[in-house]
Parts: sequence; C-alpha cells; structure tokens
Amino acid sequence: MTVLIIGGGASGLMAAITAKKLAPDTRVVIAERLDRVGKKILATGNGRCNFSNLNANTANYHGKVPSFVNNALKEFTVADTVNFFNEIGVFPREEHDGRLYPYSLQASAVLDALRQKCDMLGVETLTGKNVKEITVKKGALKAVFEGGERMSADRVILAAGGCASPSLGSDGSGFEILKKLGHTVTQLSPALVQVKTDTKPIKGLSGIKIEGTATLIWGEKVLGSDSGEILFTDYGLSGPPIFQLSAKMPFKNDLTIALDFMSEYSLRQVYEVLEGRKKALSGLTMEGFFNGLLNKRLGNLIARAAGIEKLSFKVSELDRDMLWSLARLIKEYKINVTGLNGFKNAQVTAGGALTDQFSQYTMQSKFIENLYCCGEIFDIHGDCGGYNLQWAWSSGYLAGKNAVQQ
Ligand SMILES: Cc1cc2nc3c(=O)[nH]c(=O)nc-3n(C[C@H](O)[C@H](O)[C@H](O)COP(=O)(O)OP(=O)(O)OC[C@H]3O[C@@H](n4cnc5c(N)ncnc54)[C@H](O)[C@@H]3O)c2cc1C
Repeated sequence: MTVLIIGGGASGLMAAITAKKLAPDTRVVIAERLDRVGKKILATGNGRCNFSNLNANTANYHGKVPSFVNNALKEFTVADTVNFFNEIGVFPREEHDGRLYPYSLQASAVLDALRQKCDMLGVETLTGKNVKEITVKKGALKAVFEGGERMSADRVILAAGGCASPSLGSDGSGFEILKKLGHTVTQLSPALVQVKTDTKPIKGLSGIKIEGTATLIWGEKVLGSDSGEILFTDYGLSGPPIFQLSAKMPFKNDLTIALDFMSEYSLRQVYEVLEGRKKALSGLTMEGFFNGLLNKRLGNLIARAAGIEKLSFKVSELDRDMLWSLARLIKEYKINVTGLNGFKNAQVTAGGALTDQFSQYTMQSKFIENLYCCGEIFDIHGDCGGYNLQWAWSSGYLAGKNAVQQ
C-alpha cells in the first residue's frame, strides 16, 4: 500500500511518522513543493517554536465548527505530544501561559528531530514536487504534479496548509485542489496578524511600543482582552496582544480595540495619580504633565483627545472634568479596527475546508474515499501560543493513523 502525503509541514510530517510507525510495510511518501520540508516550522515562535500549550482545549480554536478539534485533541493530547517529542529528543521547556518550547529554544531542533524520525522509519521525501490536482477514477487516487507527472496512491493525505506566509510554502493551492474535488472552502482571511485601524487616533505614534492591555469589542460585546507589548505602526497596531486578539477578528465588522495604558490601576486610582501630579507639577504646562508617566507622544495625543489642544496649557488650570477625561482616556483609549494585514504577514489562515465534509474521528473526506486532510487546511485556526501547531500534530496523527488502519 502507498500513502501519499501532500505537504511536508508540521501536520504532514506528523501524519507520515504516524503512518509509517503503525504500518512499517506501507510505502509512505511526502511530496513537498519547496526544496525542503518544514520551512515554516523554522520560523515559528520567533525561531524558537512554541510547539504546544498545556492549556489547549476547544475554547482556543475558531472556525464554523470549533468542536471539530475535540476528538483529535482527545486522541493525541498535549501530554501525548510532549511524550512524542521527548521520544524523538526534544525536551520541553514551559514558559508563560503554558506555552511549550524545545528546551534549546531552537525551532530547528524540532524540525531536525522530525526529519531524523522520518529518515529512521523510511519515509520517502520528494521535494520540489508541486501538486496541482488530485484525480479520482473508479476510487483510485492520483496526484498530478506541475509538469504533468502523476503518482498513484491508495491513500492521500492533503496537508498543504492555508495561505498564511506563502514564502514559507503554503500558497493556498491545497484549497484549489479540494475545490476541484467538490469540497467547500469557506471564506478565507488572514489571522494572527497585525491590525489596521483608523489612523487619526494613533497619528504620530508610529514606532512607539507600550506595555498595556488591549480589549477587543464587537458592537457592545467584549470578545477578549490581552496584555503585553503593543506596537503602534503607521497603519495600525501590532505586538503579541494584538496578534492574539486578531484570531477573533476575521469576518466581523464594527470592531474596536480599547487600549488601557495603566492596567494595574483602576480608573479612580489613575484619576488620583493625575490629581497628585497636578499639585506636584503645577508650574508646568501640558508639555511636561505626562513626562515620566506615559510616552511623551502618547501623552500629547491623550491631552488633545481630551480637548486640550495647546501644549502651552497650564497644568494648574486643569479642572476636575479635564482630569477625569484624561484618566478615562488613559484607561480606555478606543481605536476603530478597519481591517487585518495581508496573508503575507499572517501566521495562520482563518477559514478553509468545511469541516462538516470530513469525519472528526478519522480526518477522512465524507465525499472521497481514501482522501484525508490535516492541519491548517481545515476551517480551524487557533489562538497565538502553540495552539496551531498542537492542531497540526493532533490532526496529523489522526490522519496518518486512519490512512493506514481503515
Ligand atoms: C511566522 C510564523 C510563526 C508561527 N509561530 C507559531 C508558533 O510558535 N506556534 C504555533 O502553534 N503556531 C505557529 N504558527 C502557525 C503554524 O506554523 C501553522 O499553523 C502550522 O505550521 C500549520 O501546519 P500545516 O502542516 O497545516 O501547514 P504548513 O506548515 O503550512 O505546511 C504545508 C506544507 O505543504 C506544502 N505545500 C503547499 N501546497 C502544496 C502543493 N500543492 N504541493 C506540494 N506541497 C505543498 C508547503 O510548502 C508546506 O511545506 C506560525 C506561523 C508562522 C507563519
């Protein structure tokens, strides 16, 4: 029997290892369009590879039917992932919020270990093989490569990823292959990406980094909140909390981000801090009022947003209402979201293969016998923090296992 895996990314490598481990006599072949497998793994976690998260559960995943991940996460759990990586030499290191990395903090260690395991098991790897189409005739599957070459397989696992970061291999061609086979691909959007906003409220702040909390509001509803370093850019916002919130943004309009620049303090406490500064700094103008409290450019912008147009305005003339306005703006500075940055810079794809058309127990297509999918190609994307790779490992395991056992 031959199992052909299209795509040598995280999920494809896991599917190959699982299939070959469970059925050593099976020919397992990975066809990868780039000149090497696992290029994206090298870029993950800023080159450190945040390969899983101890807290992974359905709530960390998004898509039309997030519960599609349930069975995969149960069959190949985070603990199984840690064991698997330990077995192939990758000792885990836990960082904040349950994030797991290789102890050496090198993404290359994860890829090397996966490649070595593939080699040891006898998985065949064909690089520079761009699959354009899968044909099905009388139940027999054939992959058609660019240039016309064909390869027959008893089982095909499509692990071609989404559209995010195409320079690392996933250019959306997997979606085209699925559509030709009659599968539905839901609307696509970049996710885990920088956010475009109304630029007026952030004018002049480009390049500034602040520690704060960002809260995502959709109409009246709070969708999530995250703290850390927030970066202002000329088009909007970036930084880990923004990436995290961007996972919840695809396909929604009317989104606002509220920034809290002093999240350890309540509104009243911020007011009291400002009141104290008014007394202490009464000889200054607004030019110096925020000095040592907020970034200067941010302070100036907040003063203007509170209606204090001139920086020559005397601190001694700040009245109670003005102090409350400033305090409110420091605690809740609202910026309208206008969009997301493109796939070029995105870490994952929101949307993908409609999960209703696949079995969550086997990852097999309900339309095409012997066709399986795994990883980001599905209409599933996770939060930032190791959840996307966990999905790649868990779904890859299920696809590899069922391709040889069904
Ligand atoms: C910069 C960056 C940082 C990230 N950091 C993290 C992180 O720290 N933690 C985390 O959990 N997630 C992270 N992610 C997300 C995570 O890497 C992906 O969700 C995961 O790699 C998806 O695995 P996959 O196997 O489904 O797809 P991919 O890893 O995209 O692999 C798909 C493979 O298929 C190949 N391919 C595509 N089309 C074809 C074709 N037609 N024929 C042949 N081959 C094809 C591609 O070249 C590629 O090698 C990051 C993503 C990026 C871009």
